[in-house]
Amino acid sequence: MALKAELVAIGDELVSGQALDTNSQWLARSLAALGVETRFHSSIGDDMDENLGALRHAFGRAELVVTTGGLGPTQDDLTREALARVAGVELVEDPASLAAIAGFFERRNRAMTERNRVQALFPAGSEPIANRVGTAPGIWMRLGRATCICLPGVPYEMKVMFEEQVAPRVRSLMAARGDTRFILERKLNLFGRGEADVEASALDLTARGREPMVGITASDATISFRVRSSSATETEAASALEGTLATIRARFADILFSEGDDELQHAVLAELARSGKTLAVAESCTGGLIADRVASLAGASEHFLGGVVSYSNASKSALLGVPAELIARVGAVSPEVAEAMAVGARGRFGSDLAVSVTGIAGPSGGTPEKPVGLVYLGLATAEGVRSRKLELGPEQPRRVIQSRSAKHALNWVRRELLGLE
Ligand code: AMP
Ligand code: MG
Repeated sequence: MALKAELVAIGDELVSGQALDTNSQWLARSLAALGVETRFHSSIGDDMDENLGALRHAFGRAELVVTTGGLGPTQDDLTREALARVAGVELVEDPASLAAIAGFFERRNRAMTERNRVQALFPAGSEPIANRVGTAPGIWMRLGRATCICLPGVPYEMKVMFEEQVAPRVRSLMAARGDTRFILERKLNLFGRGEADVEASALDLTARGREPMVGITASDATISFRVRSSSATETEAASALEGTLATIRARFADILFSEGDDELQHAVLAELARSGKTLAVAESCTGGLIADRVASLAGASEHFLGGVVSYSNASKSALLGVPAELIARVGAVSPEVAEAMAVGARGRFGSDLAVSVTGIAGPSGGTPEKPVGLVYLGLATAEGVRSRKLELGPEQPRRVIQSRSAKHALNWVRRELLGLE
């Protein structure tokens, strides 16, 4: 039986909707990777009665309770006291934690306030979890059959402490119970087909109860398969995972562009690097989005020469050499102008490839002949120039049309570099 966990997110800003509880999402995934099954999430404000109630409830139904937040030095930080009350013990000062907090201030040449002392208080019988990146230490405490772990709310501190100190201890906890399931997870990303269409070719993989488990999600037209393999040994989990990954890779080879967190721009840069080629962009309705995505990557400068944001008709002519007469005749949103923009960018930057985008991002500016969501891409290479029409849907918000256009443009470059076009 997997260890059952409950996550308790503490903070007024979380229940009021001012901030999103991202800690619990991260923790649930990190615990899953250790073989711990998160069954409950609760969120509560900075209120003592609600803290007491939520903690009691959590200890009643989960064996591992992880709280985040409420460990700061201010009045509204109640976690330490709430835990002590639920355990029926006193708060006692831990000299080592106090010294660590004092050291944190000393290194910054700042005075430690009297209030920071409360961060060195711990429920009797608990153990401090040191915090090397902030002032709030965490708490590890055994309460009956449950184990409680309190971590600070600041996501960065919480993650460092979890990875360095909590994860190894949870692993030993699981081993002590004879509970050593290994869980491995991977994500494969596809672009270029709809979610339902992809799923229709993957019904055997996404069937409930399949092992390894395969889930499918769509985010901004990128389709991802999440594969989760769970087994008694790491070798078994890895080999089952590899089998399923190989099936997906073979079946969706034409649209698979990355694994893990890499996006289309990562794949484009990798292909540029592999082929030793350079890229330039000419953007109208995406306003620099493609350039931004490529330039966000370390190492882009070797292969990304630059781009032009030619939003007005005049700038398409002045900066990219698109004939004004052509724009007047066929319109700025046309295959001819997309091609002329790409050719202009390739010539001016001297790149091997240039991709261009011109379209109607809306919400206004559409006509029956050229509705919102109509976008043309151009791709110029040493072999010549081509264009492609996208119909992204007149009901889509402006930001979505821009983002999809950028993705299609990047995907076209990627496929061209791979010789798939
Ligand atoms: P605290 O530890 O309660 O002082 O929280 C400090 C900071 O961490 C605040 O800026 C919070 O918005 C942030 N924070 C607290 N809990 C969470 C959470 N569950 N998810 C994301 N951020 C959080
Ligand atoms: Mg707080």
